[in-house]
Amino acid sequence: MRKWICFCCLFAAINGCQVAPHTPSIDTDQPFWAAGDSDPAARFALARRSTPELIAFLRRMPKGADLHNHISGATYSDYLIDSARRNAKQFDTVTLAFTDEEGPDTVGMSTFDADPELIVAFRNAVSMRGWYPSSASGHDHFFATFERITSAGRSAGEMLAEVMARNAYQNVQYLEMMATTAPVEVVAKFRAAYRGLDLNNLEASFAPFAQLTRDPEVAAAFTRELDAWEVEALTLLQEEHHLPPERAPMVRYIPQLDRVGSLDRFFVAAVLFMTAVKSDERIVAVNMVAPEGLPSARRQFDAQMRILDFLWGRLGEPPMTLHAGELSLRESPVEPMWDRIRRSIDEGHARRIGHGTSVAWERDLVGLLEQMRAEQVLVEVSLSSGEAILGIANEDHPFDLYRRAGVPLCVCTDDEGVSRSNLTMEYVAAVKRYDLGYADLKRLVRNCIDHAFLPEELKAVQQSELETRFAAFETSLAEGFRE
Ligand SMILES: [Zn+2]
Repeated sequence: MRKWICFCCLFAAINGCQVAPHTPSIDTDQPFWAAGDSDPAARFALARRSTPELIAFLRRMPKGADLHNHISGATYSDYLIDSARRNAKQFDTVTLAFTDEEGPDTVGMSTFDADPELIVAFRNAVSMRGWYPSSASGHDHFFATFERITSAGRSAGEMLAEVMARNAYQNVQYLEMMATTAPVEVVAKFRAAYRGLDLNNLEASFAPFAQLTRDPEVAAAFTRELDAWEVEALTLLQEEHHLPPERAPMVRYIPQLDRVGSLDRFFVAAVLFMTAVKSDERIVAVNMVAPEGLPSARRQFDAQMRILDFLWGRLGEPPMTLHAGELSLRESPVEPMWDRIRRSIDEGHARRIGHGTSVAWERDLVGLLEQMRAEQVLVEVSLSSGEAILGIANEDHPFDLYRRAGVPLCVCTDDEGVSRSNLTMEYVAAVKRYDLGYADLKRLVRNCIDHAFLPEELKAVQQSELETRFAAFETSLAEGFRE
């Protein structure tokens, strides 16, 4: 946008002409929402003058999809406290987590709710509110939140309703939630089938599961579990959030493999989750999570890629999106960064990359970027978590590197509750850091829908819906931006 302003001034100076009426100067005090001007790019130039104006503009701008959103990291601590109350939990003042058992350090929820210090301690412990760069590692604080989040007993349906309502309010039409579907009876069957893992004979390791991966009862169990989540979520949306179902975003699910647990469990979970993708159309892909910089993640990466490569071919080539290159020298030696993203694409079959922050260290960077552009491998960018976990922000983030290379990007939240952020604020950060104009924003938003893991006919419906929303938004801007 800076370029646009310069060209405009230059043109006016040379020709002595007036600036066209649809391109107001940013020196004006005219609000971006004043009726009459039909050029949304000019309105956006006005909205960029301050953060509150940007928030107001971007909150209502269609944002298409959030493709990288962990359901438990998305829930806000404020609502975890509500859930803990409903579940009659005790609060442990030492571990700063909820528990079912009374103990010497626990207090009941009435005491907890009446004690501002305990509330602050909990909220700080389950989000980045309580972390300051000089106090400790943001990475450690971030990943330590999750066990405490789980302790409140907040159900998948409750979290889903919260995230859907929040995104509906921000004009988001489609969500791919990282939420692990693992019906207890199915997990038990898969664990019982396990006969050992031989990395040199994956065929033999897989053989005991072959029947289960085609078992209609297994498929039905995944569907039952998702149905239960969605029934609860839709009920809450109507009763508590007052959101009619037709205004709720469409949701799809991505189960998450644990990259730092044992390889045995990784193998069984990979068979289970790829079976889940075949079982229910709402489960659209598989991802791999947990801190990528931990020594066990580094040591096991080779084996994990072999397992994914084998099972991907064996189980119908499910869509894959992998956290890859969520690394910096603060959390990892440089060696894993030489090929982490490339191998996640070539061996792990990732069609999307989560974060990809360490890309500059990749061997044959130019070749990798050309491959990502040619194969349309999208990068899911999460600016607030990248800053909190890795300490990477502003020009240290490869946002512009990817953009200049023509690699598609989508702005995502990652863990909006932990980061105390949301999709609007991720766009605010992207605009402020990377000098984005309105056309850049539309391209980013369209990328997200274009790279959704949906069958073509459903994707076409979402693409058409997005264009309808853009038209309505731009009309509203021209007519005074009233809701
Ligand atoms: Zn993530």
